[in-house]
Amino acid sequence: MRLDKFISKATELSRKEAKKVLHASEITVNDEVIKDGSVHVDVLNDEVMWAGEPLSVATGSRYLLLYKPEGFECTLKPKEYPMVTELIAIPELGNLRIAGRLDVDTTGALLLSDDGSWLHRVTSPRHLHEKVYELTLADPMDETEQAHAVKKVAQGILLDGDYEPTKPATLEFIDETHARLILTEGKYHQVKRMMGYFGNKVIELHRASIGGITLEGLEKGESRFLTEDEINSF
Ligand code: URA
Repeated sequence: MRLDKFISKATELSRKEAKKVLHASEITVNDEVIKDGSVHVDVLNDEVMWAGEPLSVATGSRYLLLYKPEGFECTLKPKEYPMVTELIAIPELGNLRIAGRLDVDTTGALLLSDDGSWLHRVTSPRHLHEKVYELTLADPMDETEQAHAVKKVAQGILLDGDYEPTKPATLEFIDETHARLILTEGKYHQVKRMMGYFGNKVIELHRASIGGITLEGLEKGESRFLTEDEINSF
């Protein structure tokens, strides 16, 4: 949002009055005096102050990235483990929904929001947002087995109980027991079932990214608000 618009939304000032306080060097953005009202501010992440007092505007929906640790459930009524939202310290957590759940023992990137249509865009296979999974297998796969799995995954495989094959995906082996799987959809237990198709078992699973959003800068259990650009990328 433009800075002069942000100021008038966050205060009782008109756009013209907002320009005056800007010219009087009374506004800082992230501790830097800004006089230009056309400067763009990220309403969720930039700290805008007027004469040392923080300004904020109502943003409506919230959009978060959480680094999910093991031992947390993504269901609304958890049975055995605490719910992931217990890791997030913001009000009205009950309104947050998860885009693309992770199993209790899976770690990694989890997006949450109270904006239903955005959540739908993140998860809908029509939008082809890539999810990158890093996995460890119980049994080593030799070169022939790896080449076979890579080819089958690229073609799509019919998993037990499904009517449609998986969408073409990318499987890259790092070594005999470690691989990266890039999916554009999110069927129930998809990664584990896909590796099960090859007679193997996933013993560790981590989602490294969703769309262009990675966990860089976050420790396990930490969360942050998405930037406007990140929100708009879905
Ligand atoms: N696929 C799985 O099998 N489990 C997850 O947690 C995510 C994707």
